[in-house]
Amino acid sequence: MNLFDPHLFRRQFPLIENHDKSLIEKSGLTSSLIYFDNAATTQKPQQVIDSQQHYYQHLNANVHRASHQLSSKATFAFEKARSLVQGFIRAKSIKEIIWTKGATESINIVAQSLARNTLKPGDEIVLCASEHHANIVPWQIVAEQTGAVIKVLPLTNNGYIDVAEMDNIITDRTKFVTCAHISNVLGRINPIKKIIAKAKSVGAISLIDGAQAVAHLSIDVQSLDCDFYVFSAHKMYGPTGIGVLYGKKVLLECMLPYQGGGEMIKTVSFTQATTFNELPFKFEAGTPNIAGVIAFAECISFLTPFLADETNAYNLFEQKLVNHCYEALAKIEQVKFIVDGTPDVGVIAFTLTGHHNQDIAMSLDIYGIAIRSGHHCAMPLMDHLNIDGCLRVSLAAYNTIAEIDYFITSLKTILLDGSLDKTNEEVSHLSDKKVVTDSTKNEMDEIIALFSNTKGWDSRHREIMLLGKTLPRLDKALRDDNSLISGCESLAWLKSDYSEQGLYTFVADSDAKIIRGLLVIVLAAFNNKTAQQINQFNINDYFSRLGLMQHLSPSRGNGLLAIVDKIKLLAQNSDKNN
Ligand code: PMP
Repeated sequence: MNLFDPHLFRRQFPLIENHDKSLIEKSGLTSSLIYFDNAATTQKPQQVIDSQQHYYQHLNANVHRASHQLSSKATFAFEKARSLVQGFIRAKSIKEIIWTKGATESINIVAQSLARNTLKPGDEIVLCASEHHANIVPWQIVAEQTGAVIKVLPLTNNGYIDVAEMDNIITDRTKFVTCAHISNVLGRINPIKKIIAKAKSVGAISLIDGAQAVAHLSIDVQSLDCDFYVFSAHKMYGPTGIGVLYGKKVLLECMLPYQGGGEMIKTVSFTQATTFNELPFKFEAGTPNIAGVIAFAECISFLTPFLADETNAYNLFEQKLVNHCYEALAKIEQVKFIVDGTPDVGVIAFTLTGHHNQDIAMSLDIYGIAIRSGHHCAMPLMDHLNIDGCLRVSLAAYNTIAEIDYFITSLKTILLDGSLDKTNEEVSHLSDKKVVTDSTKNEMDEIIALFSNTKGWDSRHREIMLLGKTLPRLDKALRDDNSLISGCESLAWLKSDYSEQGLYTFVADSDAKIIRGLLVIVLAAFNNKTAQQINQFNINDYFSRLGLMQHLSPSRGNGLLAIVDKIKLLAQNSDKNN
């Protein structure tokens, strides 16, 4: 029976639905949302949201500890969720399902509780070039701790793990093999069965990062025969802060606890050795995310029928979206996919020749379209592909063909409109407003006046882009590692100078036009100021006055905080040296 109806499915998601009312018919959509960032996290269906609320309203008690009825009810719901997860991934035993904060914590548990105690210097850990940092850094830490060595499986041109290279890389020295079931950038279903079998053939332990797979594929850990499988609820329509470590019982039993505390012990004494609880509780120190677990159960009940449906309607619809989006993007001249061929799931990564990823993502945001730009927590993959970053559209089954069409039209408009490409003559009206980079005392006031005439993100974004045009490019020789600002999504460089009068001047540049505009705004606040003035300046107030706070909070995303930090650091350091 076909259980999947795209319209009914979409209707379950209030955040998407409530944004949807006037979508498409209306031009200049500034308040509607097209959410294409599902690989980062998915939206939640009403029943998952309700379930979390229901727990707090009717069931809230700690689990496993008390003899009162409320605690029994909460514990029952909590453990029922565990058995649902067991069924969801077809694990042999309920003891093999450990609750964690998410995929990241699950991987860290295996790295620290197993790998750290078994690896010897020279042993090898094999992972893949397209891994998420969550499946790289824990292994780098344990390699450092034990003297083990990391080896990397390369990719084919289509973005799959290259199994032809496996025999050269997975050898008798290999003790752990780990890779993503589906890469969060490439959207390819990796040949994990072959990789797991190869790991097994050399006696290595296998861990599969299923973070991007669980929303799309039916998982059978026994048939895969992997030793560990990890995932997060929030990428499969469930709540944040809850995930799963599946591990074969025989391995989990011989692993030491990851954290100590309540619930993970059998006996504690000051005179005798503490003994640990049995599985799975040995790995669940402290009060768990009970509400998250219970809402996760609801999400499994929601998703399982679609994944199990023999008509495959859910996956076929997802594939229809992917094909439609991929083909439409392929027709845009400037689009360059980062690997060849259509992805297996709705994760499409590309760059646009002549444009910075961040500029495009921020311009699309004005159209209400949420896509991601940057390295996507896969810096080694970016290096492997020789790119700084890319754009990523990630689709879910609640997205629609109409949304994709609107996205493509908006993207074409942005590319045609040239607001990203205005020449200096076109923005000459700015010089009338005397917003120039060799800052005068009043430059900041002029910027505030400029922004006081703007309404909404659309016009503010436009002004920022136009301001960016007034920033002279920094000499290439000055754009070096010393002037580079780390923490920015795009590259940015900053140089400072100090006058005899104790005033600072800064020059800066970025490869992203939006950041160049923001640099003009930031430099106006800090140029020709003393170290004390610089350090006392409240950038948040300034951005609030400009009406930018709600759009551009100085966070990692837009790199503003990193730029301001660097300015303050430069001022502090030269202050100390003078
Ligand atoms: N692995 C992959 C492939 C991912 O996409 C992510 C999240 N982006 C993670 C691991 C980490 O998941 P979490 O942040 O939920 O722990």
